[in-house]
Amino acid sequence: MKDIHEVIIIGSGPAGLTAAIYTARAGLTPLVFSGPTPGGQLTTTSLVENFPGFPEGITGPELMDKMREQASRFDARFEDLAVTAVDFSSRPFKVTAELPTGDPPRTWESKAIIIATGAATKKLGLPSEEALWGRGVSACATCDGFFFRDKKVAVVGGGDTAMEEALFLTKFARQVTVVHRRDKLRASQILQQRAFNNSKIDFAWNSTIQKVLGEEEGRVTGLLLQDTITGALREFSCDGLFLAIGHLPNTEIFKGQLPLTEDGYIIVHDRTKTAIPGVFVAGDVADQHYRQAITAAATGCMAAMDCEKWLASVGSN
Ligand SMILES: Cc1cc2nc3c(=O)[nH]c(=O)nc-3n(C[C@H](O)[C@H](O)[C@H](O)COP(=O)(O)OP(=O)(O)OC[C@H]3O[C@@H](n4cnc5c(N)ncnc54)[C@H](O)[C@@H]3O)c2cc1C
Repeated sequence: MKDIHEVIIIGSGPAGLTAAIYTARAGLTPLVFSGPTPGGQLTTTSLVENFPGFPEGITGPELMDKMREQASRFDARFEDLAVTAVDFSSRPFKVTAELPTGDPPRTWESKAIIIATGAATKKLGLPSEEALWGRGVSACATCDGFFFRDKKVAVVGGGDTAMEEALFLTKFARQVTVVHRRDKLRASQILQQRAFNNSKIDFAWNSTIQKVLGEEEGRVTGLLLQDTITGALREFSCDGLFLAIGHLPNTEIFKGQLPLTEDGYIIVHDRTKTAIPGVFVAGDVADQHYRQAITAAATGCMAAMDCEKWLASVGSN
């Protein structure tokens, strides 16, 4: 007979690992699939200064190693694999992953599931953007704005997020330039007005970023912009670039299994519950608003507690 797990957690970012710590301490021996990015988004950043408990800050990879170590200490189990398919149509739920050995895909069964697959920042797709990621290129003003006190920064995008990021950055930066490929913003009128009225914000209209400059210096020194109408190229000097062109929730494998929002986020009912009893969700995969490690961890805790209660309520059924 196949083993049926009490709970499988899909994802090993702050949400998944916090859910693992809580379900493990509740004696549920969770099985965690760590996926394509073990440790999640924070493993791609250097210093994290806003996670409580670390007054001097902590590097993203170190924080995530500690969370995994903590979960392992309470007997959480890990499969360092990406889930390629799920079947939530009947219980026990089924989770399938390809094996690195090239053997046929394997399927695991579980009474409950916690989804914590996170989201990815939409990028411009430039090699220079990758080279300078974390060296002036960021996707989170709340996380990194503090490092740009009295500096000149650019924000790329034209929607609400871009305006919110630009407005937030004016608390630190001396100048914030919004780079937008059109001559009009998509953002709501109220945010547009706030940005237009802020003397620290200006706009590079009809402009696309061809290259992030500063690879030789090892930090962002400017942008190579192209005018979308004339095709003319110009160099724009700045110390940082914030991407605000959107996020992609990692929900490909849940399409057809769970209702998703138009943007692909998992729809949450009643705290951390999804449309299917026994399937819970935590972190950025269901959160378009906060996108912080601490909020992901908090919802991981909530999902674990909701899951534990649900398992107790259904008993051995
Ligand atoms: C560069 C950068 C810097 C940041 N800095 C800060 C900061 O200073 N402070 C802060 O609070 N927040 C910061 N954030 C935001 C923070 O990282 C996220 O809010 C947080 O990581 C979200 O946690 P999560 O667990 O929901 O998802 P993620 O961290 O995105 O983790 C998702 C997990 O799901 C796994 N996964 C995905 N698909 C599958 C699959 N098919 N099968 C199995 N597993 C899968 C991935 O491998 C990963 O382990 C930063 C983000 C970035 C990108």
